[in-house]
Amino acid sequence: MGTRNPRVGANRAWLVYLIVGFVLVGGYYLIPTTGQGRVVRIVVYCLVSASAAVAVFVGVARHRPRPRLPWLLLGLSQLVYATADASFYVSHYLFRITAFPSVADPFYLGHYPFVVGGLVLFIRRRSPGRDLPGVLDAAVLAVVAGMLSWLYLIGPQARLHAPTLVKVTSMAYPMMDLALLAVSLRLILGPGRRPVSFFLLSGNLVAFLAADTNYVMQQLAGTYHAGNGLDAIWLSGNLALGTAALHPTMAGLGERGPLRENSAGPMRIVALCAAALVAPATLLLQHASGSLRDVPVIAAACASLFVLTIARLAVLVADQRRLAITDGLTGLHTRRFFEAQLPLEVARARRGDSSLAVFIIDVDHFKSINDRYGHPAGDQVLIEVAARLRAAARAGDVLARYGGEEFALLVPGARREELERIAERLRHQVASSPITVGADTWVPVTVSVGTASFPHHGDGPQALVATADRALYAAKAGGRDRVVIGEPPQPPPDLTEAVTDAADLALIDYLHRLADEVDAMLSTVEHSRAISRWAGALAVELGHDAAVARRVELAGRLHDIGKIVVPKAVLTKTTPLTEEEWRLLRQHSEHGFRLTRVVPGLAGVAHVIRQHHERYDGAGYPDGLSGTEISVEARILAVCDAWASMRSNRPGQPALSEEEACARLRLRRGTYFDPDVVDAFLDLRRRGLVGDLRRIQPEAPATQRDAGVSL
Ligand code: GH3
Ligand code: MG
Ligand code: MG
Repeated sequence: MGTRNPRVGANRAWLVYLIVGFVLVGGYYLIPTTGQGRVVRIVVYCLVSASAAVAVFVGVARHRPRPRLPWLLLGLSQLVYATADASFYVSHYLFRITAFPSVADPFYLGHYPFVVGGLVLFIRRRSPGRDLPGVLDAAVLAVVAGMLSWLYLIGPQARLHAPTLVKVTSMAYPMMDLALLAVSLRLILGPGRRPVSFFLLSGNLVAFLAADTNYVMQQLAGTYHAGNGLDAIWLSGNLALGTAALHPTMAGLGERGPLRENSAGPMRIVALCAAALVAPATLLLQHASGSLRDVPVIAAACASLFVLTIARLAVLVADQRRLAITDGLTGLHTRRFFEAQLPLEVARARRGDSSLAVFIIDVDHFKSINDRYGHPAGDQVLIEVAARLRAAARAGDVLARYGGEEFALLVPGARREELERIAERLRHQVASSPITVGADTWVPVTVSVGTASFPHHGDGPQALVATADRALYAAKAGGRDRVVIGEPPQPPPDLTEAVTDAADLALIDYLHRLADEVDAMLSTVEHSRAISRWAGALAVELGHDAAVARRVELAGRLHDIGKIVVPKAVLTKTTPLTEEEWRLLRQHSEHGFRLTRVVPGLAGVAHVIRQHHERYDGAGYPDGLSGTEISVEARILAVCDAWASMRSNRPGQPALSEEEACARLRLRRGTYFDPDVVDAFLDLRRRGLVGDLRRIQPEAPATQRDAGVSL
């Protein structure tokens, strides 16, 4: 046997109160309604009624709810109500005064403002933000209740032939009840925590409204007599209120609860639907019974319900749209939204002859933050970085989470001269102070920023993003925690020049050797020679002149020399590449461009190499060019390169059969590749003129895979 916890007794007070209360209610009906019994009945009734008010004040003193005012108002309302009960029973039973309105009615009616006020305060504490769905749902139910109340309670009272005071008092009850119902629905359907005391308070409201409605109906039917079964409902309601206040969970009733994302669950939809159908059903009933008396009221209710339903739908649609363009973790826009906005803003800038800027911001060494402090801490850092970036951005800017720890900012109207200032502001804002994760851990966080502006750095969305992305890459390579402004696009390639200067032959020869080294490193011996041959044949087949054929042959031979500076581990990795590794790999066309353009006369070839991973539909790299923006040489090269790759054993990917490779080319006709080039290639292949790798690819022994150079 341990020692008794004194708090247990205190915490059980609500249960004791409830049990004693129900015993009293049971006893109430056992007491005779005549003689001395009548007095005992009055005492028991008033005792239970008043006990609820006392229980509320005791509960407030004991549990110290924050805020206290709503509970105090409920206690006050119950006090007024108990006074009404006492004066009603005393005048009714002791003095046999049956006049209506009686001395009790001002008290009964007077308790409503207090209870409504208390509930409104609760609602405002529990849902401080907007809760439009909750308001609309409560309005739907209130309209239906209002209509029913008018048809069956208020209207009949109004039509009675009675003195004005009697009519006004009789109508005041259902009207007050209606106001109370509306507020109760709002509380019950709205957000906020729902502990035991919430359900007890809801029970109090439901019991009270049910008993009151019954009371008015019995009055109209002439069947009401004091002390009947309705008293049990009223008394139970009082007990529910007292118990709610004594229950320890009462202190949390004013607390804001988690916002429920799905405010349109199946139960709620069914309930709303059923409620909305009450109005037309009532009309049908009146029609069937031949007493179509309340058409205007029912029509008004139907119209209100219709408008409310449409409004509810509009809110749902708006919610869905907001969710679709909002990143769940950071609350920023999604990448999809950013990519939809960018072309619109570029078009607007073009029309208005103005400018805009794109910033890509990437958290430095984020992986090590995750590794060191854990993924949840990483998430916290992302949320805080997003908040800091948002603070640094202006109202009209579009800020999005672009990838895992990558953000993108679109600033309409920003000019080239402003890029550095804005980017530095972003960088400073993030790095301004360490970010807290957990109780006493501060993580210093920096970002790298790459930026580009329209029209200076590119005249289309893809070119802008590509330039900013390259700049970001340079910022990372330059040591991180810095801003790099993109390089303007290269001058348009002069594709008409030809390689004629014999003095540069040594350099060209050197590049050929590099191509052989890359082929050897990748175990694709003769790969570049085959591509060169096929590309030349294809150029001639497509009707291009000798200069084009020569250029595409040379570009075919040198197209992959940029891979010489890509880590070999990335080139030969057999498992899927990480984002960073892809980035490195994709750099090879640009490295190839740089290596080639240093040779006088090879500028045209260099540009073909740069473009050989552009896609016909604009989704390629590095510049996102599309269609005929891509030189025809690069379009030819892309098809030949793809064929060679598909037909070779690559790290982690076995070679495709000829049929599979043909099917793949056809599939990507118009997306990856120029359709005309694909058609010409397939035609030449049928004739046996291109595409045969067997002659040039001997079975590669395992050791040869690792052979090659590393620079
Ligand atoms: P760098 O400075 O080069 O940008 O290095 P880094 O480590 O930041 O870059 P890397 O791209 O290698 O790593 C990004 C990491 O971000 C990898 C991934 O696990 C993590 N990440 C992506 N999305 C989330 C996320 O939503 N939450 C958390 N905690 N981590 C994420
Ligand atoms: Mg990254
Ligand atoms: Mg990073």
